Amino acid sequence: VSDAFDLAVIGGGTAGLSAAQTAARLQRRVLLISEGPLGGECTWNGCVPSKALVEAASVRHTAADAERFGIRVGDVSVDFPAVMDRVHDVIDQIARYEDEAHLEAAGVTVRRGRAVFVDAHTLQVGDDRLGAERVVVCTGSRPGIPSIDGLDNVPFRTNETIFELREQPQRLLVLGAGAVGLELAQAFVRLGTEVDVIDAAAAFLPREDPEIATVMRDILESEGIRFHLGAQALRVARVDGGVQLTLSDAAGEREVRGDQLLVATGRTPNVEGLGIEAIGVRVGDMGIAVDTHLRTSVRGVFAAGDVTGTLPFTHVAAYQGRLAAHNAFGRQHAASYRVIPWVIFTDPEIAHVGLTEPEARRAHGDSVRIATLPFTAVDRAVITRRPRGLIKVITSGRPLLGHAGGGTILGAHIAGPGAGELIHEFVIAMQVRAFSGRLAQAIHAYPSMSVGVQQVVARLFVAGRATAGETREDLLSSSVRRRPTPPDPGPP
Ligand SMILES: Cc1cc2nc3c(=O)[nH]c(=O)nc-3n(C[C@H](O)[C@H](O)[C@H](O)COP(=O)(O)OP(=O)(O)OC[C@H]3O[C@@H](n4cnc5c(N)ncnc54)[C@H](O)[C@@H]3O)c2cc1C
Repeated sequence: VSDAFDLAVIGGGTAGLSAAQTAARLQRRVLLISEGPLGGECTWNGCVPSKALVEAASVRHTAADAERFGIRVGDVSVDFPAVMDRVHDVIDQIARYEDEAHLEAAGVTVRRGRAVFVDAHTLQVGDDRLGAERVVVCTGSRPGIPSIDGLDNVPFRTNETIFELREQPQRLLVLGAGAVGLELAQAFVRLGTEVDVIDAAAAFLPREDPEIATVMRDILESEGIRFHLGAQALRVARVDGGVQLTLSDAAGEREVRGDQLLVATGRTPNVEGLGIEAIGVRVGDMGIAVDTHLRTSVRGVFAAGDVTGTLPFTHVAAYQGRLAAHNAFGRQHAASYRVIPWVIFTDPEIAHVGLTEPEARRAHGDSVRIATLPFTAVDRAVITRRPRGLIKVITSGRPLLGHAGGGTILGAHIAGPGAGELIHEFVIAMQVRAFSGRLAQAIHAYPSMSVGVQQVVARLFVAGRATAGETREDLLSSSVRRRPTPPDPGPP
């Protein structure tokens, strides 16, 4: 066994790259072992291709709708293989900076292959045994496949194979109305495919603020996506030219058909075949169990990213990978998930940070303050003819000031144009625990979409009217402020 390495990282996805690069920056001898291509799920089968496809679909949507701007573009047609080629171009461009040469140049030794633990400090890779003082497990996740009668006998796609399509489906069945299912459902509907989305949960986007979920459901339905919510998928069967799915919901049993079936029902952590349980690492239902320092139950072994089942996002994987590497070398950084935004890249996007209204009310009672602003009140949204959506901010109360105005931000939720960018104003404010009024005081350039952030926060300070427990409807009934002239939110 060679004992050459200070740290071995298993898995070359976002978490693994982040851990390995951090260790290299700390001047440690670091080995990265990856079975799949460097960049992992995000680059090859996840964030990157899905967003590239969403963008292509959005161009098609805008082109077909150009008359609204007085522009005539003639017939708009989709060259599906060309769209897919562009998606793969984008993957190549991004993967270029995550390749072996870049990592080796940064001081990381890269070994391709599958790693299996021999003991906490020894890994088997092919015929070699490699030693490292500490290990970070970053083996990620794969599509979770539900057990549905007949699914084994029909061809179906997941995010790992959908981007290999060369022929555009005429009808697509999407199982799962989560972020992955919705982004792809909308992309395909916009490219001209008929799309049915089936989900067992009755609530649409149950993790999102209910008001935001309602707005988005309306938008997606208006584009032609057919939702079957609260619907149990009973069985699937191969039929001429595709797949037939039998579902059961409150209205009874019925069949839906598609020439392709996409399964997007969640993720399963990659914990099998690693030998981690044999060395005593505790694995829970969600994945490898870690404490706030990303330590597993075995000394010297850490885990980061999707395999921990924390929050399945690239930015969380990167954060955890960095932290795990620091902690492996004696730092004591506790991970904080207090301010973790996420975005569903439908069009318009859905952006989320902090508590939803029901969560905030459960945690803080009626003292919470809430303001909403429809995008029809944001001039930029009107100018760009994209006025659908809503911004919502939830803050603590300010008991010392008799609940006048809003306190610190507990959560913010946006469905609307640029939501994934706008949310970061709230992210920064929450990160530094700023009083919400700061966002209203900060002068925003007119007519940017960001003025909407200033406007919605200003609504918490409608002079003399805000009282604890004031309802959103009261605020909505106050006049809509279009220009960035918020009432004075108090002394700085
Ligand atoms: C369609 C889709 C869209 C997404 N869009 C977004 C988005 O827009 N924004 C966002 O934040 N997140 C998004 N995600 C989630 C994001 O992709 C994941 O959170 C992220 O990739 C997790 O990174 P990771 O490093 O934990 O794991 P992975 O990227 O899965 O990497 C794990 C790596 O470990 C390797 N490996 C596994 N076992 C072994 C072993 N025994 N030995 C050696 N190597 C091994 C695998 O081959 C793989 O390369 C999306 C996911 C999907 C599926």
